[in-house]
Formats: sequence, structure tokens, C-alpha cells
Amino acid sequence: MEEMRSYQVTEWDKPLQLRLRERPEPKGAEVLVKIEACGVCHSDVHIGEGYFEMGHGRKARLEDTGAKLPLTMGHEIAGTVVAMGPDAKGTSVGVRGVIYPWIGCGHCAHCQRGHDVDCETPRSLGVRADGGYSNYVLVPDGRYVVPIDGVDLNLAATYACSSLTAYSALQKLPPLLPEDRVLIIGAGGLGLAAVSLAPLLTAGRVIVADIEPVNLAAAQRQGASMTFDSRTPEPAKALKEAAGGSFRAVLDFVGSTDTAQLAMGVVAKGATIVIVGLHGGSIEVPLPLLPSRNLTLRGSYVGSVEDLQALLKLAREKKLAPIPLATRPLADINAILDDLRKHRVVGRVVTVP
Ligand SMILES: [Zn+2]
Ligand SMILES: [Zn+2]
Repeated sequence: MEEMRSYQVTEWDKPLQLRLRERPEPKGAEVLVKIEACGVCHSDVHIGEGYFEMGHGRKARLEDTGAKLPLTMGHEIAGTVVAMGPDAKGTSVGVRGVIYPWIGCGHCAHCQRGHDVDCETPRSLGVRADGGYSNYVLVPDGRYVVPIDGVDLNLAATYACSSLTAYSALQKLPPLLPEDRVLIIGAGGLGLAAVSLAPLLTAGRVIVADIEPVNLAAAQRQGASMTFDSRTPEPAKALKEAAGGSFRAVLDFVGSTDTAQLAMGVVAKGATIVIVGLHGGSIEVPLPLLPSRNLTLRGSYVGSVEDLQALLKLAREKKLAPIPLATRPLADINAILDDLRKHRVVGRVVTVP
């Protein structure tokens, strides 16, 4: 039987190590999936470092939230079910699917309602449980295998994080009219996914800001009505001038001090700001601003299994413009993570074991 070959974090902030183990047998409700593709997400750069920057030099350590080493990262997994535990249901051997990775404990009130994402003791694949930088992954329940049914497998893999996150964030926008401006900050994998989904989920006019001309060009190709290089001095003022006014909504897919400040600087009264990116940092918000300008400042984290099913449906109906994808061998994973760290990736890299 083929052994399990996984690239693992064995020490925080060190290159991943290839570790060979016996192929696991699924127990109980578990299913074993043979991995055909796993997308490489920018958040793996931070997960591998072992912490997220919380601003003012404070760090949120993954170890303090239940992550343990060694850990196989990778949460954009697609593959084929090859074995099922004795109590497994919701899928069957031979099903090709994308794996919903944001898995909760399975028994709290949130999990019971299918809101795994709000579970306080998550078992997310690639973050707290072993994920996709491997040739096999154990999935706790068959219902997390969402059949791809004709969708390109590499593309489907990326839906588990970037597109799912973009879809869920877009659903947090208030109802908008075509003349309402929506700012998308950050045109990496997440931002580009949002640009391609936006016409399906909001009537607002999408404008994209980034600091990399190559990302802005990609956003333009993806259908943004206007792009803006936010390295400009006084970016908030310049952006409002260029766009013809202030914004009804901002989706910040970077989540840094600079981008959140830009968001706060461009919004109209009654606007919604959704922070999605986990770059890290902090801003000072004068509290009277929130009521007096009637602002909504909120976060959005990934999405639900239902959101992932809805995305696959959109993909099957060919309503989604594919994001730029490159496939590379899984063995290159450390080089790929390094490229992400140095902002040398446009769109998404998908690894193939
Ligand atoms: Zn991700
Ligand atoms: Zn739970």
C-alpha cells in the first residue's frame, strides 16, 4: 500500500520537512481522500511562522489556540475518496470532491447548525489538523467532501479558501445600487476571487486598490471597473477623487494597518467595512465615528459548507471567471511559500503531489 508522504511544519518558522508515514485507515465517520491538488494560500506563510501579528508588536500564537506540531498545512484540497470508516456517510468511494476544511468540533451549538466556522474548538484541516500538503488526508466526515461534478479539479481546490472567503465576505455587504462604489483592497488570490464573484452577488461598482501594478493589471482583466495604486501619497483622498466620491462598502482582503486606514478614510456615511485579510496590524478608531457616521466595521472568516456547495454550483453553471492558476509539484512547497512571502505570485499556485 502506498505510504503517506506529507510536507510538515516540524518547527515553527522553519522550512517544511518531508515525512513518510503509513497510510492511515479511516475510523468511525472518517473518510480518507487521495489528494490530487492543494492550493497554496498566503495564510500558510503566517501559519508556518506560528503566529499572527496583532499590532503593537503583539502576536497571537497558534500554539495558544490548540495547534500542535508536527502539522501538515494546506487547506485548499481536492481529491478522490479512497476509503471510508465503518460509520462514514455523506459520500462514497470514488467521489471526486473539494474538501471543506473549516471543520468544527461537530457537537457544539454552532456545529449542530452547520456553522462550523464559528466553533470555538475548530479542527480546521491544514491549521489544527493535518491538511493537504500530502498525498492523503483524513476528513472527519463525508459531508465535508463536496463533489466537483465536472468542475476543473485544480480550480475547485482553490474554492475552499479564497473563493469561499470572498463569497462569504461579499454576502456581508448591504444591498447596493449600480452607482454605489465598492472598494476591494488587495488583488491577490482572495481579492481576485472577489472581483470575479462580485457581479453575481452585488450590483455595486467594483474598484480595486493594491500596491503591486501586476496585481492591479490582473484585477482589470478580472473585470474591475477601475484600479488604483495605493502607494500614492494621501491614498484615501486620491482614491476618492479618482473614483468620483466616497465608498458605500469596503472589503479589505489585506487587513493591515495601512489598508484599514485607507478603508476608514474613503467610506461614506452608512458604509460597511469588512476586514477579511489576516496580514495583521491595528488602527485607532475614534468611537464617535461609528455612530455619527453610521458605520459598520466587521470581520468575515472563510464561509460555510453551504457556501462552498453554492460556489461549486456557480462554477458548474459557468458563472465564475476562473482566477489565474499555476500548478507546481508539491515537492516545491518551500519555494512556493517563499515566493508568496516575497509577493512573487499572481493568483493561485496549486500543488500536485
Ligand atoms: Zn487560505
Ligand atoms: Zn463546534
